[in-house]
Order: sequence, then structure tokens, then C-alpha cells
Amino acid sequence: MLRDILIIGSGLSGLSAALSFSYYLSPRIPDLRITVFELHSVPSTTGGAIGLSPTALRHFDHLGILDELARYGPDSGVDVDAIEMFSARTGKSLSQVDFSGKDGVGYGDGPDTKTYKGRRVMRINLALAMIAAAEKRGHIKIVFGKKFSKAVELDDEDKIEIFFADGSRATGDLMVGCDGVWSATRRRYVDPGCEAEYTGFSLVQGTINTSTMKTSAHFRSTSLNISKSGSLLMTFYDKPRDGMFVSAMLECQETAVRDHTETRGWNRVMISESLRREVYSRFGNSAIPCVREVSSSTDIDWMLYPIYQVPVGGKWHNGRAILIGDAAHAMLPRDESAAYAIDDSIILARVVAQYLDQPLETSFQIYESLRRTDVTHAYHESMKLWQRRHKDTGTFESWIRERLLRFYTRHTQHSRRIAFEYDARKTAIPTSLSTRNSSQFSLRPSSKSQSSFSSTDSPPSRANSSV
Ligand SMILES: Cc1cc2nc3c(=O)[nH]c(=O)nc-3n(C[C@H](O)[C@H](O)[C@H](O)COP(=O)(O)OP(=O)(O)OC[C@H]3O[C@@H](n4cnc5c(N)ncnc54)[C@H](O)[C@@H]3O)c2cc1C
Repeated sequence: MLRDILIIGSGLSGLSAALSFSYYLSPRIPDLRITVFELHSVPSTTGGAIGLSPTALRHFDHLGILDELARYGPDSGVDVDAIEMFSARTGKSLSQVDFSGKDGVGYGDGPDTKTYKGRRVMRINLALAMIAAAEKRGHIKIVFGKKFSKAVELDDEDKIEIFFADGSRATGDLMVGCDGVWSATRRRYVDPGCEAEYTGFSLVQGTINTSTMKTSAHFRSTSLNISKSGSLLMTFYDKPRDGMFVSAMLECQETAVRDHTETRGWNRVMISESLRREVYSRFGNSAIPCVREVSSSTDIDWMLYPIYQVPVGGKWHNGRAILIGDAAHAMLPRDESAAYAIDDSIILARVVAQYLDQPLETSFQIYESLRRTDVTHAYHESMKLWQRRHKDTGTFESWIRERLLRFYTRHTQHSRRIAFEYDARKTAIPTSLSTRNSSQFSLRPSSKSQSSFSSTDSPPSRANSSV
């Protein structure tokens, strides 16, 4: 019988998994124990502000996280009714990705359901809200300062034993690897040899206090300012709009970014200055005053995040262990990337609950049959989106790109609406493995995998992927 669940990593997928297992399994397993093991000794404060889609917010609400986040008042994030897109060159409005729906109240999947817009919130506040939600469930324990190093299957006991870098160990019935793109659970246990690879893109990020700014924002809550050498996201992240998060999406060589990732030490000042110069060289001559000010500001401590991904098609489970979130499928981020990690956790918990009397392998296969197609499609769509929007181009190509943007956003409006209405709680779980001939079933026919930024309305499948 399943009782002890060991989760490696306390990021979005680890904490969502803990809350999902608690929600779906505790009614059936009274003595359920869920332990989350986190490498860091305290919740990480890095990463700036995260954009959450209506889908992510719906699922966070379901898991009790939005109520906890609300306790942060002004710091619980800013509502985003649209990502407004501008030409950094001319300052003209190009298009927008709408989060407010046709009635202006957000997205829900029926007239009587709750609706959600988008939100931008500091990652640390979201993490603390998730921890608070987990602590309220008596059977979830989070242990900080535990670095997973290896796992061993104990066949005669139907258990898995995990070992930590400090020499301690833990035994459980199920291990869920939620340890991100560099996942040790993937590389050392589930799929050895499956290494993360650089995507060719990096994000340069920072925050600025708006009271220090001389120019006013040209957008309501979030803007994407597109130039021929990347895009600059500018967004508020708190309700009073005291803080602005700025993130430049740049195409860069891996060798060029390698020396720029130090987050502390004497080198930090030089790195920040070098990144500021890079941002300035790409956006400093924008027609938009606020873009010019931000890209030349010395008040921003710029940090670089090279973006790595996990190659598609890798193994997701082995024995009593399964990977979810970035550990399984890190991809170029969109406003929906985190939503995939949360979907994973809810679907996995629901499948395990439904197949509690069967071997774990059955649950894993059904879970994979439900997730693989959507995730693969999202991965390819993300890559296409970044190539189209953030890749360096010449002046003429950039002019064409600007003109096509409005067409793309209009063309994908329908699929975005379906994606934003998606509810992982309601997805049908197959009643037996044989009815789904493994890994080719999409949960969201013409829906989730048609992401908020996807370029096509055709149904998701490996066949229509572009890469
Ligand atoms: C620069 C950047 C910006 C992004 N912006 C957005 C956005 O705006 N919106 C969006 O939806 N998505 C965004 N994403 C994607 C999103 O952040 C990820 O999809 C999401 O965070 C994945 O969550 P995760 O829990 O799977 O992994 P992670 O968030 O990486 O969490 C992994 C956790 O595991 C821990 N860990 C690692 N190794 C070990 C070990 N050996 N033992 C124990 N613990 C370990 C880590 O410390 C960490 O806490 C962005 C991604 C990047 C790189």
C-alpha cells in the first residue's frame, strides 16, 4: 500500500505535487506521509517575478495557494489583463495577448465557474505561500538542506531508498523527482545520460523601484517591447506598482554567457555592468522613453539566466520513481511553462489515486499517456515562438515580424481561450491502460498544447511539431 511519498525539490512542481497528493490521496490513505526534500537551506529568493496564466491561477486556487498568497496584500502580485506588445523601434502598439476574456473578467470553463486573469508576482512570495499551504496539511513535511545524491530500489520490500549528500537516507513507496532542469533524480536514477542542453537564449533580468524613474510606463501592467535584437519584458509585480521587473530575452552563444552567471563576489559588479551595456546596446535607442530609461539605468542589478532545456523523448519513470515539471521537460519559458508543472502534479495525483490498487507502473504509464503529447507539442511551440519573437534579425526581417505579430495573435486567439479555460481537475482519466495505447493521447484536444503563444490551431501531435 502506498503511504510514504518522497518528493525531491521544493520548487513549483515539488510543492504542487505535495499539495495534489495530499488533496487526492489523503481521503483514501489516512496515514499518508509526504516529505519534500530541498537542496537549499532556506527558500530561494532568486529568479525575480514570475508570470502566471489563468490556468496556473485556477490550479493554484484549487490547491489552496491563492488564499495564502492573498495574505501578502500588496505583494501578492499584480493582476495582468493582457501582455501588451510594442515595437521598441517605433513605439507603436503591435498586438496583445489577452488575459481578461470577452467579458473582461478573465477565463473560466463555464458560466458558473470562477474566472482568472493573469498575474505577475515575485517568486519568493509565491514560494512562501506554497509552503504555508503545505504546512496547513498535517501530513506534509518540508526538509531543507537535503541534497539528493542517489536512489536504490528495495525490491524485496517494494520500497525505494534515497541517499542525501550529508550521508542521511530516507525510504518510501514512491519518489517524485521535482528537482528542475539539472535534475539529479533524472541524471542519476530515472534516465542516466539525459543531460540538459543550452537553448541558444538567455534572460537578463532585474528590478527597479518605480519611484526612482523619471519616465512613466507606457503600459497598464505588462509589456513586451520587441526589437530586432531581442525583446524586453517590462512588468509591475506588486499592486501599488512600486516595483518593476525587467527581463531582456536575448539570443546569445553559450560560450559568451558562461562567465556571466556569478551571483555574488567581487565579480558581480563587473558582470552587472557588462549586462547593462548589453541591454543598452539592444534597446538603448528605442522610441519608447521608459524602455530607454530602463536599459540605461544603473539602478538595476542585472542577472543572467541562460536557458537550458531537457531533450524531448527522454524517460519519465523508472521503478518506483517518476519525474515531473522541469526535471522531465524543461523548455523555453512562456507564461504557461509553470502551468505545465502544476498540471503534471494534479494529473499524476489523480491517476495514482484512481489506480491505487494497481502497481505504480500502471499509474506511471497512464500518466505518461496523458501528458507526453501535450508536453512535446508545447516544447516545440515554445521553441518556434522564441525563434520567431526573440531571435536576432535584420531591420527588414524585423519590420516583417512586427507586421505579422497582430496576425499571429488573432490567429491563435481561439486556442488560447481553450488553453486558459483548461481545468486539470476535470480531465477524464482513462479507466484502463488498454483503452489508451500508451503515450499518444492529448488531454487538451486543440487546447492546452495550443499555448497562449502557439502559432497554430491544429491539434497537438508529434507529427505537426516543427523542430
Ligand atoms: C529565467 C526563467 C524565467 C521563467 N519565467 C517564467 C514565467 O514567467 N512564467 C512561467 O510560467 N514559467 C516561467 N519559467 C519556467 C518556470 O520557472 C519553470 O517551468 C518552473 O519553475 C519549474 O518548476 P520545477 O519545480 O519543476 O523546477 P524548479 O523551479 O527549478 O525547482 C527545482 C527545485 O529542486 C531543488 N533541487 C535541485 N536539485 C536538487 C537535489 N539534488 N536535491 C534536492 N533538491 C534539489 C532546487 O533547489 C529547486 O528548489 C521561467 C524559467 C526560467 C529559466
